[in-house]
Amino acid sequence: MNNFICQNCGVEHTELPSLAFNAPFHYDILNSVDKEKFTDKDDDFCVIHHEDQIDYFIRTVLQVPILNHDETLDYGVWVSVSKETMDEYRLMFANKEAEEKNYFGMLSNEIEDYESSTIGLYMQVVTQLDGCRPLLIPYESEHQLVQDWLNGIHRDEAMLRVNSVL
Ligand SMILES: [Zn+2]
Repeated sequence: MNNFICQNCGVEHTELPSLAFNAPFHYDILNSVDKEKFTDKDDDFCVIHHEDQIDYFIRTVLQVPILNHDETLDYGVWVSVSKETMDEYRLMFANKEAEEKNYFGMLSNEIEDYESSTIGLYMQVVTQLDGCRPLLIPYESEHQLVQDWLNGIHRDEAMLRVNSVL
């Protein structure tokens, strides 16, 4: 990680790495045989074939603002989406098309920094014109994650969260 003198407060900081999940929670809990047989996953897409339904997930980014800083703490998270969304986004992704589209998704990772579960939180999924992963805009909720997204967190708090996963 790189250190730098902060333009905002003049103190030396360590760059905030993103806190990324390699897969949706629903994938992680499967045993290796089921992963092999019933799933289809890469860095950006995950499909899980259940007996009675198919679940679709895409990789996105949730950016929590840092108070008084031009920085964000980025969570690399997965959201579950509809088949229609999956198909459309996959096509856009494959063609490297730059289109800003809005989809609906539900957060599919357990972010340990929060006491109450983050799984199932409603998200607006916005694809990016610069080819980066879609950004999330949480729906209104009392959940602390949504409050943090709205109001920001202290930089020290962000570093604590980073250090707790390293
Ligand atoms: Zn600073």
